[in-house]
Amino acid sequence: MADKYRCGKCWKTFDDDKLKVLPGVRCPYCGYDIIYMIRKPTIKVIKAT
Ligand SMILES: [Zn+2]
Repeated sequence: MADKYRCGKCWKTFDDDKLKVLPGVRCPYCGYDIIYMIRKPTIKVIKAT
């Protein structure tokens, strides 16, 4: 599962494969250098015994 990222300026979301194309961590849309990583909540399986 790939992590998602969100730009701190234009708030667009993008995958980490778009992030790897650019040198350093920058928004591929506006070039802003503050990026938030969005982690999807993991689904835990709870067994009721
Ligand atoms: Zn941006």
